[in-house]
Amino acid sequence: MIAENLHRVKATLKPGVRLVAVSKYHPVEALQEAYDAGQRVFGESHVQELVAKHDALPEDIQWHFIGHLQTNKVKYMAPFVSLIHSVDSVKLLKEINKQAQKANRVVDVLLQLHVAAEETKFGFSPDEVVEMLDGGEWKELLNVRIVGLMAMATNTDDEEQIAGEFEQVRALFERLKEHYFSDKAEFKDISMGMSGDYLIAQEHGSTMVRVGSMIFGERDYSH
Ligand SMILES: *Cc1c(COP(=O)(O)O)cnc(C)c1O
Repeated sequence: MIAENLHRVKATLKPGVRLVAVSKYHPVEALQEAYDAGQRVFGESHVQELVAKHDALPEDIQWHFIGHLQTNKVKYMAPFVSLIHSVDSVKLLKEINKQAQKANRVVDVLLQLHVAAEETKFGFSPDEVVEMLDGGEWKELLNVRIVGLMAMATNTDDEEQIAGEFEQVRALFERLKEHYFSDKAEFKDISMGMSGDYLIAQEHGSTMVRVGSMIFGERDYSH
């Protein structure tokens, strides 16, 4: 079932778009099934769960952290996380740098942008991200590498609105690339699109989609 779902999703991805299998709230057996079907990139949104699954599953999995991240939890994932999608402050960026340095690593991160209409979504506004980059502090953080942007669209059936929000992210990405990262080849990713909107996202510049329920089914929040 999971293997079939995975293959079905992968068959719909455009060339160059990578799949993060969002496995939060699903048991390790479900992840193992996806792993056996060839999936190597998994996304989790709670630190404790991420660490437990990392300890239980094969070494060659690339673990992405996609949830809201508190600075005091960074240390638990710094030794192994391969990409943090949800950087929304300089403070967090500095903490990731500090913990990555302790772990003797360089950790890749995405800056999370807030473009959705909902108040509740985390992330920088476009103005805030420009202000942060103008501040220049990030340039001295040698153990983090900013590799792109992440965003979520509004949870709505209005596909034009969703497409418009994704276009906003793409436009900002191009602008930031030109102004701050023109000499940095690693700044190349846009993480956007979930089960309900990844097909739209990949038409509007996404290079990385985060798909959960279409692969693993509905999440059971009761445990
Ligand atoms: C849970 C989650 C997803 C996956 O959502 P689905 O609708 O299950 O595909 C993607 N991105 C983030 C940030 C999430 O928290």
